Amino acid sequence: MTSKHIETTLISAGRSKRYTQGGVNSVIQRASSLVFDSVADKKRATAGRASGELFYGRRGTLSHFSLQDAMTELEGGAGCVLYPCGAAAVANAILAFVEAGDHVLISGGAYEPTQDFCSKILAKLNVSSSWFDPSPDCDIAPMVQPNTRVVFLESPASITMEVQDIPVMVTAVRAKAPQAIIIIDNTWGAGILFRALEHDIDISIQAGTKYLTGHSDVMIGTAVANARCWPQLRENSYLMGQMADADSAYMASRGLRTLAVRLKQHQESSIQIAQWLAQRPEVARVNHPALPQSKGHQFWQRDFSGASGLFSFVLHQRLNDRQLAHFLDHFSHFSMAYSWGGYESLILANQPEQLAAIRPAGGVDFIGTLVRLHIGLENVQDLIADLSAGFARLENV
Ligand SMILES: *Cc1c(COP(=O)(O)O)cnc(C)c1O
Repeated sequence: MTSKHIETTLISAGRSKRYTQGGVNSVIQRASSLVFDSVADKKRATAGRASGELFYGRRGTLSHFSLQDAMTELEGGAGCVLYPCGAAAVANAILAFVEAGDHVLISGGAYEPTQDFCSKILAKLNVSSSWFDPSPDCDIAPMVQPNTRVVFLESPASITMEVQDIPVMVTAVRAKAPQAIIIIDNTWGAGILFRALEHDIDISIQAGTKYLTGHSDVMIGTAVANARCWPQLRENSYLMGQMADADSAYMASRGLRTLAVRLKQHQESSIQIAQWLAQRPEVARVNHPALPQSKGHQFWQRDFSGASGLFSFVLHQRLNDRQLAHFLDHFSHFSMAYSWGGYESLILANQPEQLAAIRPAGGVDFIGTLVRLHIGLENVQDLIADLSAGFARLENV
């Protein structure tokens, strides 16, 4: 077969007859018990329980297998483990490879609960962690230790959006700690914009809660592993009882079908709005990997095939509580909420000192309030008018 483009893969992946049973979509198979026809059938299921035979609900049903196959094909791995949410994927992927005395090297720009998992849970297991600065010129080579077992990346960095030189980092880790497992939280790129496993990363994690499902109504996590890590990740996660429900797996599979078109629009609209923001007098800096002035833009341009809808900007001014409420409480199209990756636009603000507190490897180099936007699928002019009205409100407080 000729090689397919990613848009085509998103349509076909995970849709074999076995999973669709003659429909278009995979079936929703809710099951704990799976019934064996005979002693021989039970024996066969047991032997194949890790490779797609129906065995017991915790190993998955057709709904799970369909999504796992699709994600494995999409991200080019040896297999995919499903988790009840992205945070479970992060925690269990790390746990699968560390033991007491090991060291984890993690990005200081990683999602905050990921960092907290290292400092609060791994520390109790006598696994030490250290943090590297997510700024693009950070050299992590001196930070890799003989006992470094996991290196955890996230690029662009959470909230501040710095893109790192991943190939240089991977080369440094492989040279100094051949035993180390390199994991990336690849949620921003949705497994499409950044091809993690092609960059010699071992495991690509996504909070499928975000773009994969795309409608802010499902929580699920995915981890696609290469052949080196797949058996250990799979068996450890199984022993930790990690599983998503069949309905959520189905919803993630359904989301995949429109992922490429959604991402294209998220990209187009977010770049347009980021460029508009860069011209505003209130704005000191726009952190959008696709903008030349954004930190690590050159690495985004080299290593990513596009951008998604999440970025941030920094105001010249540090807004006080009254100004912040006046700015944030009255948007028509931007809701205030955690999470992102759905069809709707979102806004959140962080003060510089709040961000400095979650940047253990260094503070922040700005003094104004940071605003994070997720640009949804609304009309761009409507969103710009909404933001423009927000800036106007700041003049009157
Ligand atoms: C949301 C998010 C997570 C956690 O996912 P949940 O499904 O909310 O547990 C992990 N990493 C990143 C980058 C996220 O944005």
